Amino acid sequence: MHISIEDLDDGVHDINLDGDPDSLDLPRENVSFSTPVKVEGRLTVSENNVIVQVRMATDADFECSRCLKPIKEHISGDIAVLYERTDRVIPETEDLTAADDIEVLDYHTKAIDLSHRIEEVIQLSIPLNPMCSEDCKGLCSICGINLNEKTCDCKLEKDDPRWHVLKALLKEE
Ligand SMILES: [Zn+2]
Ligand SMILES: [Zn+2]
Repeated sequence: MHISIEDLDDGVHDINLDGDPDSLDLPRENVSFSTPVKVEGRLTVSENNVIVQVRMATDADFECSRCLKPIKEHISGDIAVLYERTDRVIPETEDLTAADDIEVLDYHTKAIDLSHRIEEVIQLSIPLNPMCSEDCKGLCSICGINLNEKTCDCKLEKDDPRWHVLKALLKEE
Protein backbone atom coordinates (compact mmCIF):
# COMPACT_ATOMS: atom_id res chain seq x y z
CA MET A 1 0.00 0.00 0.00
CA HIS A 2 1.45 3.27 -1.14
CA ILE A 3 1.04 6.84 -0.05
CA SER A 4 1.86 9.27 -2.80
CA ILE A 5 4.14 12.09 -1.66
CA GLU A 6 4.71 13.58 -5.06
CA ASP A 7 3.85 17.28 -5.26
CA LEU A 8 2.72 17.43 -1.64
CA ASP A 9 3.12 20.81 0.00
CA ASP A 10 4.85 21.09 3.33
CA GLY A 11 2.40 20.70 6.16
CA VAL A 12 -0.06 18.17 7.51
CA HIS A 13 -2.10 16.01 5.17
CA ASP A 14 -4.88 13.58 6.01
CA ILE A 15 -4.47 9.98 4.97
CA ASN A 16 -7.47 7.80 4.29
CA LEU A 17 -6.78 4.69 2.27
CA ASP A 18 -8.51 1.40 1.59
CA GLY A 19 -6.08 -1.31 0.62
CA ASP A 20 -6.67 -4.65 -1.00
CA PRO A 21 -5.49 -7.39 1.38
CA ASP A 22 -4.57 -9.50 -1.66
CA SER A 23 -1.86 -7.01 -2.52
CA LEU A 24 -0.14 -7.72 0.80
CA ASP A 25 2.07 -10.60 1.74
CA LEU A 26 -0.05 -12.04 4.54
CA PRO A 27 -0.25 -15.46 6.15
CA ARG A 28 -2.78 -17.63 4.32
CA GLU A 29 -2.74 -20.72 6.47
CA ASN A 30 -5.95 -21.07 8.49
CA VAL A 31 -6.74 -17.42 7.95
CA SER A 32 -8.20 -15.25 5.21
CA PHE A 33 -8.81 -11.54 4.73
CA SER A 34 -12.00 -10.37 3.10
CA THR A 35 -12.29 -6.77 4.30
CA PRO A 36 -10.16 -3.92 2.97
CA VAL A 37 -7.21 -2.78 5.03
CA LYS A 38 -8.08 0.70 6.24
CA VAL A 39 -5.29 3.17 6.85
CA GLU A 40 -6.19 6.45 8.51
CA GLY A 41 -4.10 9.19 9.97
CA ARG A 42 -1.82 11.95 8.87
CA LEU A 43 1.28 12.71 6.97
CA THR A 44 3.50 15.60 7.96
CA VAL A 45 5.72 16.84 5.17
CA SER A 46 8.67 19.14 5.64
CA GLU A 47 11.76 19.83 3.63
CA ASN A 48 13.85 17.16 5.29
CA ASN A 49 11.31 14.71 6.68
CA VAL A 50 8.07 12.95 6.01
CA ILE A 51 6.33 11.69 9.12
CA VAL A 52 3.63 9.06 8.82
CA GLN A 53 1.29 8.52 11.77
CA VAL A 54 -1.54 6.18 10.94
CA ARG A 55 -3.80 3.53 12.38
CA MET A 56 -4.47 0.47 10.29
CA ALA A 57 -7.44 -1.87 10.72
CA THR A 58 -8.91 -4.90 9.05
CA ASP A 59 -10.74 -8.13 9.86
CA ALA A 60 -9.29 -11.61 9.71
CA ASP A 61 -11.44 -14.69 9.16
CA PHE A 62 -10.48 -17.81 11.08
CA GLU A 63 -11.92 -21.10 12.07
CA CYS A 64 -12.13 -21.82 15.77
CA SER A 65 -9.18 -24.13 16.45
CA ARG A 66 -11.40 -26.32 18.61
CA CYS A 67 -14.85 -26.48 16.98
CA LEU A 68 -14.07 -25.10 13.47
CA LYS A 69 -16.80 -22.44 13.70
CA PRO A 70 -15.97 -19.41 11.48
CA ILE A 71 -14.87 -16.41 13.50
CA LYS A 72 -13.89 -12.87 12.64
CA GLU A 73 -11.15 -11.11 14.51
CA HIS A 74 -10.65 -7.35 14.31
CA ILE A 75 -7.02 -6.43 13.84
CA SER A 76 -5.65 -2.95 14.28
CA GLY A 77 -2.42 -1.22 15.12
CA ASP A 78 -0.58 2.07 15.01
CA ILE A 79 2.19 2.78 12.58
CA ALA A 80 4.54 5.72 13.04
CA VAL A 81 7.54 6.21 10.81
CA LEU A 82 9.87 9.09 10.24
CA TYR A 83 11.30 9.19 6.76
CA GLU A 84 14.47 11.18 6.46
CA ARG A 85 14.93 12.64 3.05
CA THR A 86 18.35 12.41 1.57
CA ASP A 87 20.22 13.15 -1.63
CA ARG A 88 22.21 9.99 -1.14
CA VAL A 89 21.45 7.35 -3.72
CA ILE A 90 20.17 4.38 -1.78
CA PRO A 91 21.39 1.05 -3.12
CA GLU A 92 18.64 -1.41 -3.86
CA THR A 93 20.24 -3.91 -1.56
CA GLU A 94 19.78 -1.67 1.45
CA ASP A 95 17.09 -2.96 3.73
CA LEU A 96 14.51 -0.22 3.98
CA THR A 97 12.08 -2.36 5.87
CA ALA A 98 14.05 -2.52 9.09
CA ALA A 99 12.04 -2.60 12.28
CA ASP A 100 13.31 0.84 13.21
CA ASP A 101 10.84 3.65 13.05
CA ILE A 102 13.22 5.77 11.02
CA GLU A 103 13.83 5.11 7.36
CA VAL A 104 15.76 6.87 4.70
CA LEU A 105 14.04 8.17 1.63
CA ASP A 106 15.70 9.72 -1.32
CA TYR A 107 14.32 12.95 -2.70
CA HIS A 108 13.15 11.32 -5.89
CA THR A 109 10.82 8.90 -4.11
CA LYS A 110 7.28 9.47 -5.31
CA ALA A 111 5.44 7.25 -2.88
CA ILE A 112 5.93 5.71 0.52
CA ASP A 113 5.28 1.99 0.68
CA LEU A 114 3.62 1.04 3.95
CA SER A 115 3.05 -2.59 2.98
CA HIS A 116 5.77 -4.10 5.15
CA ARG A 117 4.66 -2.13 8.19
CA ILE A 118 1.08 -3.23 7.70
CA GLU A 119 2.08 -6.85 7.13
CA GLU A 120 4.07 -6.74 10.34
CA VAL A 121 1.15 -5.45 12.41
CA ILE A 122 -1.17 -8.11 10.99
CA GLN A 123 1.32 -10.93 11.44
CA LEU A 124 1.88 -10.02 15.07
CA SER A 125 -1.86 -9.81 15.74
CA ILE A 126 -2.84 -13.20 14.41
CA PRO A 127 -3.67 -15.60 17.23
CA LEU A 128 -1.94 -18.98 17.06
CA ASN A 129 -4.97 -20.87 18.29
CA PRO A 130 -8.04 -18.78 17.55
CA MET A 131 -11.09 -19.73 19.59
CA CYS A 132 -14.76 -18.79 19.22
CA SER A 133 -14.92 -18.32 22.98
CA GLU A 134 -12.57 -18.99 25.85
CA ASP A 135 -14.66 -21.91 27.05
CA CYS A 136 -15.29 -23.51 23.67
CA LYS A 137 -15.87 -27.21 24.31
CA GLY A 138 -14.68 -28.20 20.85
CA LEU A 139 -15.63 -31.30 18.92
CA CYS A 140 -15.97 -34.73 20.40
CA SER A 141 -12.83 -36.55 19.38
CA ILE A 142 -14.79 -39.76 18.96
CA CYS A 143 -18.04 -38.88 17.14
CA GLY A 144 -17.13 -35.38 15.90
CA ILE A 145 -20.23 -33.68 17.33
CA ASN A 146 -19.94 -29.99 18.27
CA LEU A 147 -20.00 -30.15 22.07
CA ASN A 148 -21.07 -26.48 22.31
CA GLU A 149 -24.36 -27.40 20.67
CA LYS A 150 -25.02 -30.98 21.67
CA THR A 151 -23.84 -33.62 24.02
CA CYS A 152 -23.00 -37.16 23.11
CA ASP A 153 -22.55 -40.38 24.99
CA CYS A 154 -18.94 -40.88 24.02
CA LYS A 155 -17.82 -39.47 27.36
CA LEU A 156 -19.34 -42.45 29.10
CA GLU A 157 -16.54 -44.55 27.71
CA LYS A 158 -14.17 -42.82 30.07
CA ASP A 159 -15.82 -44.87 32.79
CA ASP A 160 -14.78 -47.98 30.94
CA PRO A 161 -12.67 -50.12 33.31
CA ARG A 162 -9.76 -49.83 30.88
CA TRP A 163 -9.64 -46.09 31.61
CA HIS A 164 -9.22 -46.77 35.31
CA VAL A 165 -6.20 -48.90 34.57
CA LEU A 166 -4.72 -46.16 32.44
CA LYS A 167 -5.41 -43.51 35.08
CA ALA A 168 -3.78 -45.62 37.73
CA LEU A 169 -0.72 -46.02 35.53
CA LEU A 170 -0.51 -42.27 34.95
CA LYS A 171 -0.72 -41.56 38.68
CA GLU A 172 2.11 -43.93 39.42
CA GLU A 173 4.49 -42.03 37.18
ZN1 LIG B 1 -15.12 -23.04 19.08
ZN1 LIG C 1 -19.04 -38.00 20.86
